[in-house]
Amino acid sequence: MTKIKSINPFSGKLLKEFETLSDRELEAKISLSHEAYSSWKSSTFEQRGHLMRKAAKVLRDKKDYFATIISQEMGKVITESRAEIEKCAWVCDYYAENASEFLQPESLTLPDGAKAKIVHQPIGAVLAVMPWNFPFWQVFRFAAPTLMAGNTGLLKHASNVPQCALAIEEVFTLAGFPDGIFQTLLIGSEATNEIISDPRIQAVTLTGSEKAGAAVASTAGQHIKKSLLELGGSDPFIILDDADLEKASETAAKARMINFGQSCIAAKRFIVMDKVYDEFLEKFSEHIKSLKFGNPMEEDSDYGSMARPDLAEELYEQIQDSVKAGAKIHLGGNKPEKGSAFFEPTILVDIPEGCPAYEEELFGPVASVFRVNSIEEALQLANDSEFGLGASLWSSDIEKAEKLANQIETGAVFINAMVASHPHLPFGGIKKSGYGRELSRNGILEFVNSKTVYLG
Ligand code: NDP
Repeated sequence: MTKIKSINPFSGKLLKEFETLSDRELEAKISLSHEAYSSWKSSTFEQRGHLMRKAAKVLRDKKDYFATIISQEMGKVITESRAEIEKCAWVCDYYAENASEFLQPESLTLPDGAKAKIVHQPIGAVLAVMPWNFPFWQVFRFAAPTLMAGNTGLLKHASNVPQCALAIEEVFTLAGFPDGIFQTLLIGSEATNEIISDPRIQAVTLTGSEKAGAAVASTAGQHIKKSLLELGGSDPFIILDDADLEKASETAAKARMINFGQSCIAAKRFIVMDKVYDEFLEKFSEHIKSLKFGNPMEEDSDYGSMARPDLAEELYEQIQDSVKAGAKIHLGGNKPEKGSAFFEPTILVDIPEGCPAYEEELFGPVASVFRVNSIEEALQLANDSEFGLGASLWSSDIEKAEKLANQIETGAVFINAMVASHPHLPFGGIKKSGYGRELSRNGILEFVNSKTVYLG
C-alpha cells in the first residue's frame, strides 16, 4: 500500500501520512455509494435542502478550523482560505434554495397539440477527481448541485491535500447526510480507471491539468460515460487605451496573484495597447511589489509559498525557456531554491511567439505582459491560445466592450472586472480548457437524466 502525504509547503514539514485504501475498502465505499443512491434518489428537495443548509452551517461554524487545514496543507494565505470556506457555504445555500426550481418538470405543447414533459432525474454515483488549488471550493461546487439533484458523490482528491479531502467528508457527516451520500476515497490517480469503468459509477468530473483530463475522459469514453472537464487556462486580460488604468492595474495584480497565481481563471496574459502600455506596466509592477510575503498563517501575508516544490521548479523552467527564446524579465525571475516551494513574483515582457509564456499555462505568480497596437491585434493575440476559459476586458466604452466580448473565444468574458466563479453564473471553458459547465442552473443539469415523457 502506498502512502499519501500531507506536507506543509511553507515549512516543508510532514504533517500526516495516510494509507491508501485497500481494494476491499474501495469496493465497500463504491458499494455503499450505490446503495445509498437507491434511497437518496427518492428523497425530497426539502429533505436534501435541509441537510445542505446544515452543511453550510457546519462550514461557517468551523470556518477557522477548515481554513487552517487548507493553509497548512497547500500554502494558501489564511485570509483567502477563510474566504474559500465562506464561498463553499454560499454554494451550499444557493443550491439548497434553488435546486427544486432548477429541476422542476418542464411542460411542452407540440405543434400538433400533443403534450410532453421533460423531467430531470438523478443518475447515480458520480466520481469527482479534484485538484489542490482551491481544495474545498472545487469540491463543493461539484458536490452541492450533484447531491441536491439526488446523486451520490465520491471524491478522489489531489494527493497533496488528504486532510482537506477528509475534512470535506466530515462536513457532510456533521451535517447529518446519510452514510454513503458523499465519501472521500484516499487513493492514487492510478486507481481512477477502475472506478470509472465500474458499472455502479455513472459519470466523472475532473478539474486539473489537460493530461489528467485527457486520461480520465478517455476512460469515461471507453465506457460510454458522461464526463465534465474543467482544465487549465491562459486567460487574457485586455487593456484598451480608454480603460481606467488605476482600477485596471490594481485589479490586474489581484487577478494574477490571487492564490499565489495558482488558479485556472487567473489572468495570465496581459494584453495592453501601446498608448497606455508604459503607464500600465509601471502601476501594475508597483501593485505586485507592494504585496507582502509571509507565513500563510499570518493575517497580513499576501502570499507565502506555492503548493509544492515541483510546481515551483516547473514554473521556473517555463520562465527560463521563455527568456532563452527572447522574453525579458521586468521583475523578479530569480531561481527558486532547490526543493523549496518559494517563488518570486515575476513579470515577463517582450515575449516572442512560440515560447512557454506565450503558449503554455503559467500556473503561478508570473505575469506575461504584451504590447499591441490595435484592438484587432489585441483580439488576435487573446484568441491565439489553445485555452479558452475566461477573459477580462477593460474599456470605458461598455457598448464597444460588449461587442468585442462576442469575438473572444472563451467560456466567460468579464468587462471591467476580473474573472471569478460565482454560484449564479455558469463556469467552464472551450478549446483545451475543457467542456461542460459548473454552477448556476447549467451546473446542476450536467449530472441528471433530462427525460422526455410524451403524453399521447
Ligand atoms: P493534476 O491535473 O495532475 O491533478 C489534478 C487531479 O487529477 C488530482 O486529483 C490528480 O491526482 C488527478 N490525476 C492526475 N493524473 C491523473 C490520471 N492520469 N488519471 C486520473 N487522475 C489523475 O495537477 P497537478 O497537481 O500535477 O498540477 C499540474 C498542472 O495542472 C498545474 O500546473 C496546472 O497547469 C494544472 N492544474 C489546473 C487546475 C485547474 O484549476 N484547472 C488545478 C490544478 C492543476 P494525484 O494528485 O493523485 O496525481
